[in-house]
Amino acid sequence: MILREAELPLEFVDLPDPEPESGELLLRVRACGVCRTDLHIVDGELAEPKLPLVPGHQIAAEVVEAGAGSERFAVGDRVGVPWLGWTCGECRFCLAGRENLCDRAEFTGYTRDGGYAELAVADERYCFPLPAGYDDVHVAPLLCAGLIGYRALRFCGEAERLGLYGFGGSAHIVCQVASHQGRRVFAVTRGDEETRRFARSLGAEWAGSAGDVPEPLDAAIVFAPVGALVTAALAKLDPGGSVVCAGIHMSDIPSFPYELLWQERSIRSVANLTRRDGEELLALAPEVPVRTEVTTYPLGEANRALDDLREGRLSGAAVLLQA
Ligand SMILES: [Zn+2]
Ligand SMILES: [Zn+2]
Repeated sequence: MILREAELPLEFVDLPDPEPESGELLLRVRACGVCRTDLHIVDGELAEPKLPLVPGHQIAAEVVEAGAGSERFAVGDRVGVPWLGWTCGECRFCLAGRENLCDRAEFTGYTRDGGYAELAVADERYCFPLPAGYDDVHVAPLLCAGLIGYRALRFCGEAERLGLYGFGGSAHIVCQVASHQGRRVFAVTRGDEETRRFARSLGAEWAGSAGDVPEPLDAAIVFAPVGALVTAALAKLDPGGSVVCAGIHMSDIPSFPYELLWQERSIRSVANLTRRDGEELLALAPEVPVRTEVTTYPLGEANRALDDLREGRLSGAAVLLQA
């Protein structure tokens, strides 16, 4: 499925098989998660994707060929491919363990072709071995929804009372991890009772509207791409608390009185991921154990999956399957 131009539907086309270069793997894609970032790319909200582009950056795949110089994986291995597809390894960010901020980073399904396809190639250094106990469909959402959520949770420090604003693919995973860690989770959702029940079933102590959060929070993660939720979350924070913005794109944040930020409250964003985030989450997920709720679509129906995500019709995460 390729994007020729932003704001047009993806097209189902035949492409030549990609060829792995040195250090790359040729992969048979088994499942590929659909992320809100894909939607932002398709909707033209992110600048300068590669075009035409095969989107998709939550790839569960099997290695069918290892390029010259590949050492980590062998033919037949099951691997996961995340958003971070390549980094330079020599800039000041890479050298300081912050490869997520690399100036020259390349991203799967954005600046490199991704997993809305039967075949993909990936630099093996950025692939993860996938934990046993998860099939391809259920492991795929861990690779971005899970990873970005986990990185956002890391920036919440020891926060005990945690607000999750927007309860989609990422929040439904973070909710389970946070509850497992003994935190109290407050899920802010749009109006439907079904999503609220879903949140409570995954460990949230409370689920409701932004205006009704019953207690001050120590931290909040904003997943929904809605700037007004940042100020709503900030207004609920206890002194010293943080609002962590987990999305790659968001509507403007409304202005607010300094009083809301005073008392060492903070607002920050989370960008991309490091390989360390991935290794940690994929080790932790089976211990929790994280159960992902997925809705599957055949690859050729990627546009329908994106529409359902755009319209908020999904519970959990959407995953594309090979026919
Ligand atoms: Zn770098
Ligand atoms: Zn993503």
